[in-house]
Amino acid sequence: MVDGRADLLAAAQAMFAARLSPGTSGNLSVRAQVTGDERDGFWITPSGVPYDRLEAEMMVFMDMAGDWSGPLKPSSEWRFHLDIYQARPDAHGICHTHSIHAAALACSRKGIPAFHYMVAAAGGSDIRCAPYRTFGTQDLSDVALVALADRRACLLANHGVIALGASVGKALALAQEVEVLAQQYILSRQVGDTVILPEDEMETVLEKFRTYGQQPGKS
Ligand code: 13P
Ligand code: ZN
Repeated sequence: MVDGRADLLAAAQAMFAARLSPGTSGNLSVRAQVTGDERDGFWITPSGVPYDRLEAEMMVFMDMAGDWSGPLKPSSEWRFHLDIYQARPDAHGICHTHSIHAAALACSRKGIPAFHYMVAAAGGSDIRCAPYRTFGTQDLSDVALVALADRRACLLANHGVIALGASVGKALALAQEVEVLAQQYILSRQVGDTVILPEDEMETVLEKFRTYGQQPGKS
């Protein structure tokens, strides 16, 4: 299968196995590769289907006008998936979770400041928390897009996390990182005297991230 549905299923199953989103909460999507006369759009998980029953054939194709067809309804959060693909050419995959510690922080309507250098993994010196809006609404999508400006992840007040990436696997990995950071931040606040890194140090870290890890073609 070359249209991304296999990657989407693998990421959904990995999210479930990692206990990143309880029950049928959360959803994922992958931008479709457009070849020949195929429509521009994305594959998204169906609404309310338990992750252990999900199959690649159950994924829903949505085009960039928000049109879809098929026996299963797309995720109720298709609006922010669509709006992110419209606004963010860097997004090829999206992962939305209700992971425990990130959602707990978001219930206090707190984002994650630069308490740890890994906050830069989301693209900046903090991870913002978007204000509360009802799930599945255009309003929620609108506030999420603002919180995601210059970032690859945000929290959603009284709800959860959105992460995007160059693939759905990378979006999932970032959602997992946000959960780890949220847990560390909560623990650090319990220990007390949490120290926030200065802006210039976070800029240094962001610069180092550009060449971190194995670079293709370098030995
Ligand atoms: P769906 O099952 O419709 O994707 O909804 C889950 C969710 O997390 C809504 O915010
Ligand atoms: Zn949700």
